[in-house]
This record gives sequence, structure tokens and C-alpha cells, in this order.
Amino acid sequence: MTAPDTLRPSRLPGAPIRVSFEFFPPKSAEAEAALWRSIERLAPLDPDFVSVTYGAGGSTRERTHNTVARLVRETRLKPAAHLTCVGATRREIDDVVRGYRDAGVRHVVALRGDPAGGPGTAYEAHPGGYDSSADLVRGIRALGDFEVSVSAYPEKHPESSSFDADIDGLAAKVDAGATRAITQFFFDNSLYARYVERVRARGIDIPIIPGIAVIQNFKQTANFARKTGASVPDWLADRFAGLESDPATHQLVAAGVAAEQVLDLVDQGVRDFHFYTMNRAELVYAICRLLGLKPEGERAAAA
Ligand SMILES: Cc1cc2nc3c(=O)[nH]c(=O)nc-3n(C[C@H](O)[C@H](O)[C@H](O)COP(=O)(O)OP(=O)(O)OC[C@H]3O[C@@H](n4cnc5c(N)ncnc54)[C@H](O)[C@@H]3O)c2cc1C
Repeated sequence: MTAPDTLRPSRLPGAPIRVSFEFFPPKSAEAEAALWRSIERLAPLDPDFVSVTYGAGGSTRERTHNTVARLVRETRLKPAAHLTCVGATRREIDDVVRGYRDAGVRHVVALRGDPAGGPGTAYEAHPGGYDSSADLVRGIRALGDFEVSVSAYPEKHPESSSFDADIDGLAAKVDAGATRAITQFFFDNSLYARYVERVRARGIDIPIIPGIAVIQNFKQTANFARKTGASVPDWLADRFAGLESDPATHQLVAAGVAAEQVLDLVDQGVRDFHFYTMNRAELVYAICRLLGLKPEGERAAAA
């Protein structure tokens, strides 16, 4: 069946779409069950990889490890473990990396991490620890055959004095061995396009994968955006205004916003997307379907 001219075809033209999903390690048995339901829902979409975050200051060290190790043991997914430099010596961090290596993990998302006092406070490297994210990338590469992804900031990191300084930071991570960057979320696609232009002009050629925040709760997303330096356009706030006590409409608007964003990025030639899932599958699953992705069973039936 072909789609009417005014609608998009279900298979988008050009290179295939690839997605990755980010989860956070659960705090309780109930949250763990919910996470695994989400993983089971999203896994058949055959993501490129799935990543598991590392709590501020290493607070989820065990839980991140356990979640990633379970992904290796019980699924065919390729997990990536996030890791930060905060609050630990090199030796401690190297032990975490060795633990991943021994568990069969081959991909780490290497980050500096937020200052111990939280975003906005001054960052100080841990005595005896890795000094910077680039330093950590180098350390991980020295410990095994890891793929190393890093962060990127289309609106620059709040601590960066300028875009040039920010992109110097990315260049240092690439020189240290990073092979992919995943961006902080953004809602205005022109910010991403301009950032990628700047990065390419600087001679950096690794993939810059857009991080897509599917808005599960607008108020929470806007608060988080303020802390991380991501801007929330007025038009976006306007779309969610008054929907605090109307979850059904909130969800439909969130799906519409994310669909608009990713399909516009597809029009700009983007084919890889990293979804911040907040451990919830429904909206992300729907957006992936709009991108033309199908679960394994349906792919086989259509072949
Ligand atoms: C995809 C993604 C995943 C993330 N996952 C996690 C996670 O699992 N756990 C977690 O705790 N946090 C996570 N974060 C947040 C991240 O830890 C924070 O943004 C942190 O403040 C910076 O770490 P970074 O590695 O992104 O920064 P870096 O890449 O090291 O730095 C970003 C830019 O900030 C500037 N900068 C860095 N340090 C300084 C300094 N001391 N002085 C002046 N400028 C400086 C540089 O210009 C640099 O280019 C994630 C962010 C992204 C985008």
C-alpha cells in the first residue's frame, strides 16, 4: 500500500534509520520490572545499541553495572555503559571498566560528569582521578577494545566559555579515541544543524547523533533543560500550557512534537537517533514506527 502524496511513505528514502535507546538504572524492584517491560517492548525494533546512565557522582555504580550485565546475559542487545570521572580515583574507575570488559560489554559512554555540588557549581577533578572526559576516553581505550561514545552540546555546555572552547573539548575527546558523539537534547533543529556545521568546519568527522527527549512530563523536562543549558522555545511551552492535569492530551501532544522533530531531522539527512526514554517505551515506540521501524516479527512477515 502506498501512502497518499501528502503523507510520508512508511519507508523513508535514503540510508536506513538507526536508533539507540537510553535508560537509567532502576532504584526499586518495581522500577526494575517497569524498565524490563520497556526493554522488551523496544528490543524488537533492533536498536543499534542501548545505553544505561551512571548516577551523579557514581551513585549508581552497582545498579548501572547490574543492568548492563543483565542486558548482556539475557538479551541480544548491544549495551553501552555510561561512566563519569566524578568522585573516584583512576584505579577505581579502571576497575569499573575492567568489570564491564569481563562482563562482555564493548561500548562505554565516557563523560566528565557534573560537579559534586550539582550543575552550576565549580568542577574539581577528584585527586588521583581522571582530569577530564578526554582523559577518561584515553584511559578506557587503553583498557580494552571498547567503542567509546561521548557527549556533545548543540547549545554548548553551560561551563564552556564559547562555542569554540566547547568544540575544542569535543576535538580533544575525538583525539583521545572517541568514535561517536551523542548530543544533549534540543527542541530547535536549527541549533543542531548549526552545531554540526561548526563541528565539521573544525575537521571533526565522527557521527554526531541527535539526542531526542520525548517529553513524558513537560514540567520535569523544562526543569531539567534549565539545569543543562538546553533552551525550551516559547512555542513548545505554549503547546503544553494547561495540560498538567490532562495526561492523555499531554501524551498526544508529546508524540506530535517528537514526530515533527525527528521527521524534520530526517528531511535534513539525519538517519541516526538516540532516544532519552526515561525508561518508558510507549511514546518512543510510536515515534520509531513513524520513522518506519518495525518489530522483528513484522519485518520477517513483510520480507
Ligand atoms: C549523551 C549524554 C549522556 C550523559 N550521561 C550522563 C550520565 O550517565 N551520568 C551523569 O552523571 N551525567 C551524564 N551526562 C551529563 C554530563 O555528565 C554533564 O553535562 C557534565 O556537566 C559534563 O560532562 P561531559 O562529559 O558531557 O562534559 P565534557 O565533554 O567534558 O565538557 C563539555 C564542555 O564543557 C567545557 N568544560 C568541561 N570542563 C570544564 C571546566 N572544568 N572548565 C571550563 N569548561 C569546561 C568544555 O568546553 C567542554 O567542551 C550526560 C550528558 C549527555 C549529553
